[in-house]
Amino acid sequence: MADALTLDVGPDGIAVATMNLAGRPMNVVNDELMLPLAAIAERLHTDATIKGLVLTSGKADFCAGGDIDMISKLESAQQAFDATMQMKAVLRRLETAGKPVVAAINGHALGGGLEIALACHARFVLNDPKLKLGQPEVKLGLLPGGGGTVRLPRLIGIQAALQLMAEGNDVSPGKAQGLGLVTDLAADRDELIAKARAWCLANPKAKQPWDQPKFRFPGGDSRSPAVVQMLAIGPSIASAKSWGNYPAIQHIMSCVFEGGLLDFDAASAVESRYFAACVMSPESRNLIGTLWYQLNAIKKGASRPAGIPSAKVMKLGILGAGMMGAGIAYVSAKAGIDVVLLDTSQDAAERGKAYSQGLLDAAVKKGRSSTEKRDALLAKIAPTTRYEDLAGCDLVIEAVFEDRAIKADVTKLAEAQIGASAVFASNTSTLPITGLAQASARPANFIGLHFFSPVDKMPLVEIIVGAQTAPETLARGFDYVLQIGKTPIVVNDSRGFYTSRVFGTYVMEGIAMLKEGVHPRSIEVAGLQAGMPMPPLALQDEVSLSLGLHVADQTKKDLAAEGKPFTEHPGLSVVRQLCEIGRIGKKAGQGFYDWPAEKGGEKSLWPELTRLYPTAAQQPGQRELIDRLLFAQANEAARCYEEGVLRSVADANIGSIFGWGFAPFQGGALQYINAMGAKRFVERARELAALHGARFEPAKVIVAMAERGGQFAD
Ligand code: NAD
Repeated sequence: MADALTLDVGPDGIAVATMNLAGRPMNVVNDELMLPLAAIAERLHTDATIKGLVLTSGKADFCAGGDIDMISKLESAQQAFDATMQMKAVLRRLETAGKPVVAAINGHALGGGLEIALACHARFVLNDPKLKLGQPEVKLGLLPGGGGTVRLPRLIGIQAALQLMAEGNDVSPGKAQGLGLVTDLAADRDELIAKARAWCLANPKAKQPWDQPKFRFPGGDSRSPAVVQMLAIGPSIASAKSWGNYPAIQHIMSCVFEGGLLDFDAASAVESRYFAACVMSPESRNLIGTLWYQLNAIKKGASRPAGIPSAKVMKLGILGAGMMGAGIAYVSAKAGIDVVLLDTSQDAAERGKAYSQGLLDAAVKKGRSSTEKRDALLAKIAPTTRYEDLAGCDLVIEAVFEDRAIKADVTKLAEAQIGASAVFASNTSTLPITGLAQASARPANFIGLHFFSPVDKMPLVEIIVGAQTAPETLARGFDYVLQIGKTPIVVNDSRGFYTSRVFGTYVMEGIAMLKEGVHPRSIEVAGLQAGMPMPPLALQDEVSLSLGLHVADQTKKDLAAEGKPFTEHPGLSVVRQLCEIGRIGKKAGQGFYDWPAEKGGEKSLWPELTRLYPTAAQQPGQRELIDRLLFAQANEAARCYEEGVLRSVADANIGSIFGWGFAPFQGGALQYINAMGAKRFVERARELAALHGARFEPAKVIVAMAERGGQFAD
């Protein structure tokens, strides 16, 4: 325990405390760190030889935040309340010794890490634009429970503090200095410690602003007119985005509002009460379970075959420089990979490269990149029409038209150029991988790497394992996805794989409602209330109705050829009808919506929609609509699990949130069932099936869980 914090008192009486938790890549706030910090705080009060304290870290980060393992083990609201009050007592002792305490922030200071720094009298930060400062707790359904909601508004003002805490986004040292969060920046570690030390010596009796007799909130407290106005509209602005699905946001606002009327200690206690409410909420359990534990498991390679040495892609070939190929080229070159970008004409290939140029020019303009970095990245992308240029590629990804014959053709041409051990991947969104691999001379090296659009923004890649894909091929695909900084999920081959298949149930359910006479606006609102980032009809317009119809028709044809039945979704006839009258979606300017021609214009629901599908006199309640939208997805995800398309629960949950935005606070498509309990899910699914059709009949795997107990778990 002694190792977690070492103390080195200099001849000037300034002590430097260095946080360095043993056996951990990063410092986190837990007992191991807080106990020695408490001892140091006491020593500040009692040891006259110590004149001041500089707090820094011996790791690459300053402190990454609360120990999630510890938070997850809190079993009651009382325990959560007590744990945070204990931490806050230590920080309060630290800042009230009548001696200067300075944070020398040498790396990320996030969550509880930033809260420790806020309890210091000054904060010096290494001027590294990649260094992050922030309170991201809200992203896991929590709030800063170590005094953040009390100190931050008192330091930088209520509005700026609320924004940082309610959105959970981090800021760079420069931006943090602009907000008043940072005292000064330092060029390197030596300067950082020297500046912190000098500040201690210059301010021997440092006191926090909030401990000064005439303290005023910068910008006013919760009673001042400007703040009152902002706080009055704050909740509606927040719920316009979150639809009340994220109680942590409301709790943060309550902490700041109530805390802004109270003295420091009372505000601290209020914060701990709201923190306890967050910890006990199903939303935080869902978010932590999926976006912390399951995501970390995935990143550590839970879905990667074990025992295969990791490999890096040095040279990548991309066939097809269209929307997807251009995006894949950009993210790969950004990761330092040499890219050969091939299309049927040099012009098309150059256009694909120009996509990167556009993104990089914008980044340079915004000061996020330099012209040198831009030029270095662009130099990594070689546009071509010559297959010979693919020689030496360790991986080739095809992103040509969604057409089996064209894909077969380019597979053969590329394989003739690349080495025997190179991997060939298809970015198909719908065509089964095993079928596409028939064109390959080495199907063991053939795999699906399904990217999402826009590639530079979407965090997920769905890796599809064909019937003959070798474990080595999977491992190399997996490593490549991590190499480009994306999150891989691994699924077995199937029509629509996992993401497209389940995503489709969401939009089609919304469309089926329209056909039944549900008012389109109620459908769209239900989608947002359910926690989806985009409502179903707007989303179908975005991906295009004609594409949806094409995929359904192709599926029908394929199933007929295989002698299998095709069950048409009731929403499909609506899609067909709209396509027949040219309303094929956003790209045509018209679908379920009229889309504005000019950028920045507002889309509006097509007024004739309710004439084509008359609104029923009796409208269902929103709960019914929300349940339908979520049950349709969760049930289909469970079917994917039952059929072995999904290989893990973590992949199911992360894939649903990162792939198509399944309501994050529910923790993902299978966690939705876990949190509700299989029994309740089955009961409600059967009710929905009786009312709306057999597609809601609960998957066998859920019925079995309802009968025998258990839940989806890896
Ligand atoms: P696109 O039409 O924008 O681009 C396709 C490119 O392939 C064009 O530049 C075309 O010239 C080129 N091409 C066609 N035949 C070729 C050949 N024989 N050799 C070399 N290049 C050839 O299409 P896209 O949206 O980029 O989609 C490409 C693939 O990615 C498709 O399989 C699609 O299903 C899949 N996909 C698309 C999305 C999406 O949102 N658009 C998402 C995931 C996967």
